[in-house]
Amino acid sequence: MAAFRNFKSVSNILYSRGSFGQLPEMVSKLRGLGRGAVYILDHFFRGRNLVQRAGVTPEDCCFYLDTTHEPKTGIVDEYVRQIKERGVPGVVVGIGGGATMDVAKAVAIMLANPGKTHQYQGWDLVVNKPVYKIGVPTLSGTGAEVSRTTVLIGPEKKQGINSDFSLFDQIVLDPDLLATVPSEQRFYTAMDCYIHGVEALCGTFLNEFSRAYAEKALELCRRVFLHDADDALLMVASFLGGYSIVYSEVGLCHALSYGLSYAFGAPHGQANCLTFKHLHEYYPAYVPEFQEIAGRAGISLEGKLVQGVSESVMEKMIDITLLMEKPLCNTFGPDWRKIMTREKIREMYLRM
Ligand code: NAD
Ligand code: ZN
Repeated sequence: MAAFRNFKSVSNILYSRGSFGQLPEMVSKLRGLGRGAVYILDHFFRGRNLVQRAGVTPEDCCFYLDTTHEPKTGIVDEYVRQIKERGVPGVVVGIGGGATMDVAKAVAIMLANPGKTHQYQGWDLVVNKPVYKIGVPTLSGTGAEVSRTTVLIGPEKKQGINSDFSLFDQIVLDPDLLATVPSEQRFYTAMDCYIHGVEALCGTFLNEFSRAYAEKALELCRRVFLHDADDALLMVASFLGGYSIVYSEVGLCHALSYGLSYAFGAPHGQANCLTFKHLHEYYPAYVPEFQEIAGRAGISLEGKLVQGVSESVMEKMIDITLLMEKPLCNTFGPDWRKIMTREKIREMYLRM
């Protein structure tokens, strides 16, 4: 009999302007029995009053994650080592963009599982239930707040810890937290959501759940970027875009953009945008709209990243793309290997 996928979701969702005010009470209920809390905050928030509002106490472990570059498995191992010196906490709270969401999820997983973080990069390798985790996104688009993955750069590859255990137990969606996001960053991260929606809708894994989530995510992106609607809608779009891929998968754009992030350190949202503009052949109904959105947002997507790249780096980028089996299968079907040959991938990278 076919093995149907049994989808797991985030258990609790709090959404409203000002809902961040409920976080301290939520956390204090989970401290219990002498167990403290771990807060992982994006470094942008160091010294800002959000830290007091989050309910951090002197007994808690509080880390400010440097998100200048995408997170590596090593930082998760280091946080876990420091946390374990003080005992296992009752809750891990992540406050920030996708990078911080991912590190918080991975820390909660690694506090309950042996070995090193990179050993869990892949599909369904986590064995033990993680520490309770709360996600508070401050930047909208990646859908990391609802996804079943935590994307990290390991010693060998950029790949997610894809597992039901990667889902948050609780998320707090407060659109007020988006107020300080710089405009370019807002665009790139929001377009990650747009591309999630497109890849779900155009993929072979599409079902009515993923279609419903993806269509609404795209509609909300359009309202924000083409009709100047409130950014609060981006927070909902990110959530729905994230679910559209939980119920299906990302696709070709992500498979290629992972190679760009690995080789050039290009941040996820930006790497996706630099890739997506070249994918008219695969997404003809969406690339022109994406370019219109970029134009209205005042973002230039000119310029080339992949120029004069060494043969060994190119080979590594191709290897990384080929590791993205599920996204490529989603885009092209089970015979994807016949279409996405090493030569074809190389040719596509050379356009970028
Ligand atoms: P990010 O978390 O890397 O943050 C980007 C920048 O925005 C940082 O400089 C940060 O300091 C700043 N920032 C965040 N919130 C802010 C705020 N409220 N005000 C001012 N500045 C703020 O960006 P992102 O695009 O949200 O996340 C990208 C990461 O997410 C990548 O590491 C990518 O691999 C990962 N990702 C994960 C998933 C998933 O499902 N787990 C999906 C897509 C991407
Ligand atoms: Zn993405």
